[in-house]
Amino acid sequence: MKPILPGSTVGILGGGQLGRMFAIAARRMGYRVHTFAPDVDTPAGQISDVEIHAPYEDLDTVRAFARNVDVVTFEFENVPAATAAAAAEFAPVRPAGAVLHTTQHRLREKLFLQGAGLPLAPFRIVRTEDDLIRAVAGLGCPAILKTAGFGYDGHGQVRITSPETALDAWRSIGSQEAVLEAFIDFDRELSVVAARGTDGAFVHYGVVENRHQRHILDVTIAPAGVALEAVEIARAVMEKLEVVGVLCVEFFLARDGSLMINELAPRPHNSGHFTFDACVTSQFEQQLRAVCELPLGSTEQMRPAAMANLLGDVWSKGTPDWAAACAFQGVKLHLYGKAEPRPGRKMGHLTALAATKEAALETVLAARAAMCRS
Ligand code: ATP
Ligand code: MG
Repeated sequence: MKPILPGSTVGILGGGQLGRMFAIAARRMGYRVHTFAPDVDTPAGQISDVEIHAPYEDLDTVRAFARNVDVVTFEFENVPAATAAAAAEFAPVRPAGAVLHTTQHRLREKLFLQGAGLPLAPFRIVRTEDDLIRAVAGLGCPAILKTAGFGYDGHGQVRITSPETALDAWRSIGSQEAVLEAFIDFDRELSVVAARGTDGAFVHYGVVENRHQRHILDVTIAPAGVALEAVEIARAVMEKLEVVGVLCVEFFLARDGSLMINELAPRPHNSGHFTFDACVTSQFEQQLRAVCELPLGSTEQMRPAAMANLLGDVWSKGTPDWAAACAFQGVKLHLYGKAEPRPGRKMGHLTALAATKEAALETVLAARAAMCRS
């Protein structure tokens, strides 16, 4: 296959901030970008040459979109399988729809990982009340019940603290097909962002540490400096899934030092945002290179880094003081062009670069705090 060269057009399914940062990388390298999303004036659409707004289920519009681009990728993994298939009639879709199909459904994803012999947190399938009662008895409490489909940022998850409250918990997520996971009393959370080319080439950004607040990523520290074997697990995942593009593997590091996979994201990931400023090739440029069959770029990290998310909550005392954040040396401000700052909504992030990861973390947190003082 011939590479898809600069001057060509890349299509993105999804309009969020991941697509925006991908579009920035693509336009910087001389590509044209078309986005497809159900909304208008999206974070990705603002950076694109062409923004198509239609429901993902509008397959004729999906086909027309794919006809006008040289390759299709996505930034939102809950794109329906039929949408990916319709796009694939007219342009290569990378990663393939089959990767989406596996990773957009927690149960399919877990069964894939289990079948591949990869480590993951103990889980049970819940389809009926009887399943639920047996699962809670089997795994014990606390446990976390997660919907099988369409979860993100902790949506569709509920913690079960006693067998008596299990049924109510299941009702609260719509009594739909779900996965019960043992609650992992982890030492910390880690992730590996990696990329794979059509020729099987593999590169990675090392192991980073992630801290969550209310089930939403809050801070990433890079490098983590522990559990380097996580990279080999990520490599195995990408080979077994035959991913072309970027994929993130989220891990729990147990107190005994063992690693368990939490979940996969078949795209650039929030925990890889630091690569935009800290690495020779960002995760977004890497995705572009992978899907366009260009050689993958150096993942070298030039300085230790820390990333802090800016959720809508940061607006609670009014518009944040952007200048205060910019006054910190080594801090970079990223905003996603979203108009409405709702609590829990990812509006932007800060990345700090410093001589040590400890200094980077301290700086990024101080910069965020300084922005919110009114
Ligand atoms: P995202 O797509 O944003 O990562 P998600 O909705 O898919 O979110 P998960 O990654 O499953 O959610 O969970 C979000 C966070 O909740 C985890 O990173 C972790 O902090 C916590 N969590 C989830 N499952 C467990 C578990 N089994 N044990 C302990 N903590 C958990
Ligand atoms: Mg997650």
